[in-house]
Amino acid sequence: MMSYPADAVLVLVDVTPSGEAASSTAALIGAASTIGSPVALVIGGSQAATDAAAAAGASVVLTADTDAEVLTVPLVDALHAAFTKVQPDAVLISNSITGRDVAGRFAARAKLALSVDVIGVSRDDEGIVAHHSVYGGAYLVDSAPTYGAPVITVRQGAVDARGEAVAQPTVEVLEVTASGAPGAKAGPVEVVEVASSRPELRGATKVVSGGRGLGSKEQFVLVEQLADALGAAIGASRAAVDAGYIPYAHQVGQTGVSVSPQLYVAVGISGAIQHRAGMQTAKTIVAINKDGDAPIFDIADFGIVGDLFTIVPQVVEALEARKK
Ligand SMILES: Cc1cc2nc3c(=O)[nH]c(=O)nc-3n(C[C@H](O)[C@H](O)[C@H](O)COP(=O)(O)OP(=O)(O)OC[C@H]3O[C@@H](n4cnc5c(N)ncnc54)[C@H](O)[C@@H]3O)c2cc1C
Repeated sequence: MMSYPADAVLVLVDVTPSGEAASSTAALIGAASTIGSPVALVIGGSQAATDAAAAAGASVVLTADTDAEVLTVPLVDALHAAFTKVQPDAVLISNSITGRDVAGRFAARAKLALSVDVIGVSRDDEGIVAHHSVYGGAYLVDSAPTYGAPVITVRQGAVDARGEAVAQPTVEVLEVTASGAPGAKAGPVEVVEVASSRPELRGATKVVSGGRGLGSKEQFVLVEQLADALGAAIGASRAAVDAGYIPYAHQVGQTGVSVSPQLYVAVGISGAIQHRAGMQTAKTIVAINKDGDAPIFDIADFGIVGDLFTIVPQVVEALEARKK
């Protein structure tokens, strides 16, 4: 019978529709390696996804198939089977849409504590501790279960730790018995490919966001130019989204996407608490705003007070000149 590390940390790898390991994998397994021995679970993935999990630091990779028509329940069934076998000290899951759904269902089924949207994990004498950034990043708080292994969803981009690649992982096919628990069924799915060379907002290492200060949809192109010059993803404030400058999928904040990039550039954004809630954990924040008293400057590492219509074209020009 297969034995698993005594300090195993079970990591559910997010798998893309094409069977690849999602970009969150390296940080999830990296986080796991700081608190124990990562054991990865790859459900419905390709060989490339298994290889990616090992390359990220998982010495054991469990694989399982999925009934792709039923949403999330087969993932919970497989996670439950893996948990029962491995008996890990914690379960780490990406704080993605699917990850959050699976984590909630699994924690309820296994009667385990759930910690969501964490920005880091550590281990103390009593077990695993999850670290959270709350109230718009105003406070850092910890959570830890009083019994059992915690189920933890990790904010994409928040963890820098990376595991050491494992050349020859132990790969095991997991036997999963379908629970038959009720789940939504996906009807015909049409994959809409949006051709874009820009990085995806969630998990991007650099983000340039624009706010109401851009003034119009046409002028929002300045944000796109700056993003392209930096190789960054594009974000926006809710005011910019509400004004129709850019679709909702780009909204950063309390009711939008949470990001933790290395670099966050806020252009014409005042820095309302609801916006800060989604970007305050960025490693370096740069703000461009004509109002020197704008609250965004309270959290900015670098601030430029001035008219964005003058500054942004100059920055873009300087960045392009450096590329030549
Ligand atoms: C329940 C709730 C949830 C919310 N969720 C979110 C959320 O998820 N994300 C979010 O972003 N907001 C959210 N909001 C809205 C939030 O409170 C703010 O209204 C919003 O963030 C403001 O967007 P803004 O900074 O683009 O606009 P404004 O606050 O109007 O700021 C525009 C800024 O642009 C600057 N500016 C103007 N012209 C120029 C120029 N030429 N050059 C340089 N600077 C210029 C101004 O000085 C100003 O600081 C939420 C609100 C509520 C009540």
